[in-house]
Amino acid sequence: MAFRNYFDEKMYKIQNTKEIQEIQLQKLRQNLSTYYGRSPMFKMILDSQELKPDKITIEQFRQAMPLMGQDTVRGGITESGPGEKGKIVTMLASVVGVDPNDYVLMCATSGTTGEPTPYFFTAEDLEIMPRGMSRCLWMATHGNEQEIHEMRCIQGFGLSMFGAGVPLVECLIRLGVGVIPVGAEGGSDKILKFAEKFAANTLWCTPSLAEYMVDTNLQRVRDIGFKYIFCGAEPGAGIPEVRKKIEEGFQAPLFDGMGLVGGLTLFSCHEKQYAGMHHLTDDMFLFELVHPETKEPVPFEDQAIGEMVMTPLQGVSIPPGRFSSGDVAQIFLSPCKCGAPGWRLKMTGRTDDMLKVKGVIVYPASIDGVITGFVPRVTGEFRIVLDEPPPRVEPPIKLKVEYGAGMKKEDLAKLEKEIEADMHQKLKVRPKIEWLPPNTLDRAAMKTKFIEKAYEQKKK
Ligand SMILES: [Zn+2]
Repeated sequence: MAFRNYFDEKMYKIQNTKEIQEIQLQKLRQNLSTYYGRSPMFKMILDSQELKPDKITIEQFRQAMPLMGQDTVRGGITESGPGEKGKIVTMLASVVGVDPNDYVLMCATSGTTGEPTPYFFTAEDLEIMPRGMSRCLWMATHGNEQEIHEMRCIQGFGLSMFGAGVPLVECLIRLGVGVIPVGAEGGSDKILKFAEKFAANTLWCTPSLAEYMVDTNLQRVRDIGFKYIFCGAEPGAGIPEVRKKIEEGFQAPLFDGMGLVGGLTLFSCHEKQYAGMHHLTDDMFLFELVHPETKEPVPFEDQAIGEMVMTPLQGVSIPPGRFSSGDVAQIFLSPCKCGAPGWRLKMTGRTDDMLKVKGVIVYPASIDGVITGFVPRVTGEFRIVLDEPPPRVEPPIKLKVEYGAGMKKEDLAKLEKEIEADMHQKLKVRPKIEWLPPNTLDRAAMKTKFIEKAYEQKKK
């Protein structure tokens, strides 16, 4: 069966063990040696430090290799101007040292600056992804291959997305899983129609889209009877209150995931109380943590918090650099109660949306978690009002919060106290709340923007 061509059960079982560390070192040396031979950039970096790729230690590698934002190389190339047609392709190919004609799939992010950031895949890259993905399907089904084979998946992420779009479709097909590629572009009505017609039993989409379906089409969602909900691309599926809403709405277990490109696979498990995402690809990716501001190393210890830096240990289109995705996370090295292997990780925020309230680091996503916990007494919509450019916030942190439809004005003071106490207990900050009637704030179509930049209006 197709699944067994990619699933390595022995490797799955030794995740987060001493045994895997030796494999990591050998794979790093092997991958660096390959790049040393074909990429002038890697040869230059290693030669300048007098390092031999086949003798290097992980410590030496971390000191020699500069930290790169996921988009540094690609973004730099993209922003270097329109240039001649296809210049981006040849430039990226030369960085990783491949023939541009070896790219068989060419995707891009939408690009926050408007310019798409390219992500290209060779045939070999496409073969790596299902090796990682097979492990999360194994974990989600408790190792039931028949169940995996019977999965019929709605692909409800943006189809043009660089990871969760066509690459995800390719990956599932290789694993012998049925795929229905509707894409988020089709909208939730089309997704539900396809799911009904083709009897889908598994849904892949962003948590905000899953929440939207629960809000707008609860009965149809229930009637389809999804057995698995796989979410990613946004942090929502790790927020307890959002999880509860999606799982109760769909009456199916929700899995919070990240990765795919390069085979990276992190997925949450069946634990009722969210235990973070298990990292299932220690043999494919090397992880480290750095301080979000100083970029100094943070020891990789149980419960440590830091900016995640990853190094791919194989693959053609992503070189063995030290890449940060800009995510800040807490790691858990102790075994999970669920029994599945792998150290775990909980997202706490992004380096670019970090706020510092008198030295206490707070992320908008964490505030969202607290506010969502008070639904239906609040609508769940809120804004963080910033009088100064972030990250520094003069306490108390100001919030505009919509109260719920059934709330009486005289009860708001009591609710305010409860939210304050809860936020202080969970995040160590006390907010000052300004109440707004329901439906006052703009509903963003896709990702919610939590920040109101009052400091920009002040300047005008
Ligand atoms: Zn677990």
